[in-house]
Amino acid sequence: MKKVIIVGGGISGLSVAWYLRNLPVEISLLERKSVLGGVMQSVRKGAFLWEQGPEVFKWSRCPELICLIQELGLSQDLIFSSEEAKRRYLYVRGALRPLFSTLLPLLPALAKDLWAKKGSGEEESIYDCISRRYSRQVAIELFDPITLGIYAGDIRKLSMKASFPSLYGWQQDYGSFYKGFFKSKKKDSRLFSLKGGNGSLIAALQKQIRATVSTSSEVIAITPYADQVIVATNHRAFSCDHLIIATSSREAGRLLHIPLLQEITRASIVSVHLGYDQDLWRKKGFGYLVPTSENDPVLGALWNSSIFPQRTRVTSFTFLLGGIHHPEIIGFSEEACISLAIRAAKKHMGIIKEPVEKQVAFHPHFLPQLEVGHSLRMDRVQKMLPARISCVGNYWEGVSVEDCLKRAKNFSSSLTRLCTFC
Ligand SMILES: Cc1cc2nc3c(=O)[nH]c(=O)nc-3n(C[C@H](O)[C@H](O)[C@H](O)COP(=O)(O)OP(=O)(O)OC[C@H]3O[C@@H](n4cnc5c(N)ncnc54)[C@H](O)[C@@H]3O)c2cc1C
Repeated sequence: MKKVIIVGGGISGLSVAWYLRNLPVEISLLERKSVLGGVMQSVRKGAFLWEQGPEVFKWSRCPELICLIQELGLSQDLIFSSEEAKRRYLYVRGALRPLFSTLLPLLPALAKDLWAKKGSGEEESIYDCISRRYSRQVAIELFDPITLGIYAGDIRKLSMKASFPSLYGWQQDYGSFYKGFFKSKKKDSRLFSLKGGNGSLIAALQKQIRATVSTSSEVIAITPYADQVIVATNHRAFSCDHLIIATSSREAGRLLHIPLLQEITRASIVSVHLGYDQDLWRKKGFGYLVPTSENDPVLGALWNSSIFPQRTRVTSFTFLLGGIHHPEIIGFSEEACISLAIRAAKKHMGIIKEPVEKQVAFHPHFLPQLEVGHSLRMDRVQKMLPARISCVGNYWEGVSVEDCLKRAKNFSSSLTRLCTFC
């Protein structure tokens, strides 16, 4: 039987193994760490359930993820966000303000959208696109925090087309973001997660994939030949007919000697979870973001206990620190990150009580930045890949779990269709 090796046991690698389950091939998955899941790890501490990586998903935007959850038999574990989680806040000019109130002064500029022309198709940064369509103020006060919340990135560098493909598409098709929004059918804004945390998706995949899994197996070198690929790990060497690399862009670039991949800018993120033994936060909502203009290493916080009140009766927050404007965060100690989060809880939310539980997760150089020119770069990378080697991961089409699944599924079905090596 022909052999396929997958390098990397995060959601990208595991989902490839899942999508290839019906192909008559022998699948091996090699993971550097002692556990599977990559950044997708759920941690229980006392009364709290915390996500080290992805926290929530939007129902209307995650058809692949929902399908995977159903196929794995996890539908009964789905939990949905509270109504209040629709409310979002910004920390600006010394106070937490509802997002809609910060929109009011921007309304005249936002109204320009109705008369805006269709895009020329030229690739622009988020800042350039939004300043042209609305105003600089809309770019800085609205799109900057939204971009920080998703990519922890810089609106002046990120590509509108690659980072917000739906908005970009609406601009191309209808000329107007509003018209595109109202014509699109994706109106279900509920957020969801899994009862036992998103790590239960990883556990289910681990159980149900048809692959030989080797953890603590770091791939250190790859040698492609015309008829096979040799993969060397820290323990031994393997050969296969097709290799799929499901690691970060930097690691894929290092293993394949492709500097274009290694050079993709990535933002570092630290998540700090704080748990309190009382229900002490009266404001309900999803959480808040801190715009770049505030020059704060704290990007914002998710109000977990308000998003999913069914999970806990006490109070739980996740603070996100770092991002593209604060790369220094990765040199901070755990204690320093916790202090920054506690300070933010006090300054932004007025909470002076000490948390009873704390947890920190470092994600150095993690979030790929889909900068202007990203799709051209990836077209060039695609052409450089040796025969019999493919790459999946969050640096191709987008950073979300849904984007990773889409890439993994498209790639797996083309491999299954071609089945050139079977
Ligand atoms: C704090 C945070 C919050 C997030 N929130 C959300 C969210 O709410 N919603 C959402 O959709 N997305 C979110 N994301 C993004 C999303 O979680 C990630 O983009 C996605 O999980 C990446 O999965 P992956 O499998 O591609 O990469 P990873 O999870 O990084 O997995 C790659 C795996 O490859 C392994 N590996 C690397 N090198 C080697 C090697 N040489 N040999 C063997 N194995 C190797 C690694 O150990 C790792 O296990 C968040 C990310 C972070 C960091």
